[in-house]
Amino acid sequence: MSDCIFCKIIAGEIPSKQVYKDDLVTAFYDINPLAPVHVLIVPNEHIPSVNEVEERHEAVLGRMFTVAKKIAAEHGIAEGGYRLVVNTGADGGQEVFHLHMHLLGGRKMGKLG
Ligand code: 5GP
Ligand code: ZN
Repeated sequence: MSDCIFCKIIAGEIPSKQVYKDDLVTAFYDINPLAPVHVLIVPNEHIPSVNEVEERHEAVLGRMFTVAKKIAAEHGIAEGGYRLVVNTGADGGQEVFHLHMHLLGGRKMGKLG
């Protein structure tokens, strides 16, 4: 998608602090961190949100979790714990419509609400 900010980050057209990249996913630090560790893990393919997820995406969706686990361990927050969030749609608080998983850690999280 030519007008998608995360597609541009994946393509290297917009700079980001990249944490990880492979054939299926890219991870980079959130520009406006809400926790000491705040990483976004995104599919390299443009999938707008969970609402557009299909069975053929199951490999990339699984990879998002294994990469989240790896990044959490590398940042020393695996044992203490962390939060994975996928906002979906306007009421879900989604602002960028390229599927992404927030990895938040390094502080005690409050209750969801
Ligand atoms: P959402 O609200 O859609 O779940 O989360 C979008 C996230 O993307 C926000 O936490 C926001 O700070 C982050 N974000 C938006 N634009 C950029 C950008 O250009 N670079 C980076 N690294 N993060 C961004
Ligand atoms: Zn995109």
